[in-house]
Amino acid sequence: MTTQVYNFSAGPAVLPKEVLQQAASEMLDWHGSGMSVMEMSHRGPEFISIYRQAEADLRELLAVPANYKILFMQGGGLGQNAIIPMNLVGCCAQPATIDFVHTGSWSGKSIKEAKRYAHVNVAASSEASGFTGVPPQASWNLSPGAAYLHICTNETIDGVEYNFVPEIDPKVPIVADMSSHILSRRIDVSKYGVIFAGAQKNIGPAGLTLVIVRDDLLEDALPICPSAFNFKTVAEHESMFNTPPTYAIYIAGLVFAHLKRLGGVAAMEKINIEKARLLYAALDADDFYQNRVSHEFRSRMNVPFYLRDESLNEKFLAGAKARGLLQLKGHKSVGGMRASIYNAMPLEGVQALVDYLNEFAGR
Ligand SMILES: *Cc1c(COP(=O)(O)O)cnc(C)c1O
Repeated sequence: MTTQVYNFSAGPAVLPKEVLQQAASEMLDWHGSGMSVMEMSHRGPEFISIYRQAEADLRELLAVPANYKILFMQGGGLGQNAIIPMNLVGCCAQPATIDFVHTGSWSGKSIKEAKRYAHVNVAASSEASGFTGVPPQASWNLSPGAAYLHICTNETIDGVEYNFVPEIDPKVPIVADMSSHILSRRIDVSKYGVIFAGAQKNIGPAGLTLVIVRDDLLEDALPICPSAFNFKTVAEHESMFNTPPTYAIYIAGLVFAHLKRLGGVAAMEKINIEKARLLYAALDADDFYQNRVSHEFRSRMNVPFYLRDESLNEKFLAGAKARGLLQLKGHKSVGGMRASIYNAMPLEGVQALVDYLNEFAGR
């Protein structure tokens, strides 16, 4: 018997119980092979079948068009902040220009890293208002001939989520960091040039990074781009130019199959809307708690909040822990609290948190 807890970690984060149970039951002997997935050659028929099924299921879940490659890489979201410029800016006269919209900590880190490879234009920023929303697109100062536009569609620390897809010059690809909300809502992949996501938020274990890239963008790498991080090389080798993170891919594949059984991304989106509605309603009920993000850009996945009386923070966290509500402490850069309510957080978990919020506020 394990203790019933609800884990609100921002990442690595909660995984579906069914997936962990299946992985446990297959740990020593995968499908009668006599081997653990961890012990298999990535080039053997067993792992190749695991890989191909994961790829196909993800393609189906996100309706990824045929002219996009799905790459299973390493290096995390932060790795992609260098890998993407190295793969995309070779298209243009050097130094190329990359446009960014700065909406919080993660787009901020992307900006910093990209400066090593290109000229960076911050087309818009919500920093002055404390990262509480996305600047309206009409205010963006985009560069003519930019190599691409980079946005972070869900800012995990600030709790800010895009509620629109930018409409820009179709010749300029949009690169989207979807690390913390991929598979949580329907998206139109064809609107983007590159989508990337570290797996440890909404997909699976840390160590796997997902990249979805339009195939005409595979030709623009800088000569300095390492082969193992060159999108074209990785694509040509079905993500097996070097050894991929095999066990993480296997778990991600179990998550994809699980999501399909639940009805896919549309079904997840419906539940996620309901979970977020419940939680924000409890935070908004009076001024005991506060979420500072403007309502239209409030993230459905990451909900940062503050206690009006911050001297109660430790008491709040201790009481939460005693009820099995774990990892609610906010990111150290912003303080306060944060509840991450990814796909694998059940409605009952959010309800348990809401009950505690009400009780602690004395309602
Ligand atoms: C977690 C996160 C990252 C960083 O991922 P690493 O795997 O730690 O490099 C990047 N972007 C966003 C939006 C994230 O939430």
